[in-house]
Amino acid sequence: MRKRLFLSFLAIILLTLLLSILSVNFVFQKHFSDYLARSTEVTLEQLPERLSSSFFSHGCWNSDSLYNIAHSLPFGTHIVIKEPSGKTILTLINPMESMLKNDPGLWMDMGLNYTIEEWKNKTLMISGPNGVFAVAEVRYPARARVLNPADQSFISAIYQSLFLAGALALIIGIILSYWISRRLTSPLQGLTKAVQRVGEGSLDEQVPVTTKDEVGQLATAFNGMAENLKKQGRLRKQFTADIAHELRTPLTSIRSYIEAFQDGVLPANKENLAIINEEIERLTRLSSDLKDLNVAEMGALRPYLTQVNLSALIDKTVNMLSPLIQEKGISLAWHKPESTLIEGDEYLLTRLFYNLLHNAYKFTESPGKIEVQMELRHQEALITISDSGIGIPEEDLPFIFERFYRSEKSRSRETGGTGIGLALAQQIALLHQGTLTVESCPDKGSRFMLLLPLTIREKSTSV
Ligand code: ADP
Repeated sequence: MRKRLFLSFLAIILLTLLLSILSVNFVFQKHFSDYLARSTEVTLEQLPERLSSSFFSHGCWNSDSLYNIAHSLPFGTHIVIKEPSGKTILTLINPMESMLKNDPGLWMDMGLNYTIEEWKNKTLMISGPNGVFAVAEVRYPARARVLNPADQSFISAIYQSLFLAGALALIIGIILSYWISRRLTSPLQGLTKAVQRVGEGSLDEQVPVTTKDEVGQLATAFNGMAENLKKQGRLRKQFTADIAHELRTPLTSIRSYIEAFQDGVLPANKENLAIINEEIERLTRLSSDLKDLNVAEMGALRPYLTQVNLSALIDKTVNMLSPLIQEKGISLAWHKPESTLIEGDEYLLTRLFYNLLHNAYKFTESPGKIEVQMELRHQEALITISDSGIGIPEEDLPFIFERFYRSEKSRSRETGGTGIGLALAQQIALLHQGTLTVESCPDKGSRFMLLLPLTIREKSTSV
């Protein structure tokens, strides 16, 4: 890419140079030729006056004086001075011109081209006090040409400096294009190497952001992506450890019960079997949470929409968990409002409330308090689940809806968990075109707010 950039810059510079030289050449040629034409006309206008005063000051045609006049004639001008009767008196031509004409080699050496195809003729009257006493027949090139060596060397000097400036501009252009293409591509090369290293598994890559332009933005985006990949990798490792723990706990419990039954230490009665059943349910819930989260994230989870009585649904979930909550010595406040119909998937909404309420129970110690509220706002229902539990540190708040994320605070409490409950809750809220947000203060408690529309708009039902 650097080579291509360099060559493009070079092509642009060459083209610009060529165009400027051509336009300067065109403008210069035109103006110089106009100038030559004008100065020839002026010289010829003054000629009768000068010839007349030369004649009368000497009383005859004086050769010295005529030589001076001839010297000032533009190259290519031929003047024949005749008597009014038509008899030729003398011919005038620039002496330098006649000298060069006698030596064609010198003429060519000077780069002058004397072939003139078209001529203009003029007859000038030379008058004295008694009227016209001579006639000057003038023949000069129809188009002003550079015939004078002085003019020619002036033009050469102009072209020389033009080409010198062009060559200088080209050299500077080449150096600048090399430098710019290097400057533009070297951060990209650095980025490419960093991307390759990330591809090889080194997730600690960060590239320096030195500019604010598109390349700088790309570097910032890359750093963000690498950081995110690193975080995801860490979360995945943590998740594997957590899931192993989540599986081992109920399995160990089940095995201990079965061994106790086999050894006759415990009776296989209704209560003990119910405990085993509870552990099996926990495992089933975990596996279906994982499956549903996966399906939801792939966009393939389709809610089965019916008219659901929201207050009854929340009431059922609260009743499901209230024995556990009371057993832990936590007070529970829930005032079931009158029936509210909402369009939604009963099974998924139950899981959403269960996850939120179960978290409130898990992260609140005795004598804590859990409060569930529901209110109607226009065409939406706002459900709030607040607790007076351990709360969530501010730095964890942006991440708790990410799968596998668990705050250090909850981790140190040995509450168990995999960090998928809230991620799944969030996906279910989105499937219902709702929003799930949280406010929390460490050691004071958390408040989860779920805003659900009463009816679901057509286009998003097939998320
Ligand atoms: P899990 O509960 O299985 O760890 P979740 O996705 O349900 O996973 O929750 C993610 C994390 O959010 C929890 O580990 C915990 O740190 C925090 N969290 C969720 N709900 C609460 C709450 N009510 N109080 C304090 N922390 C909470």
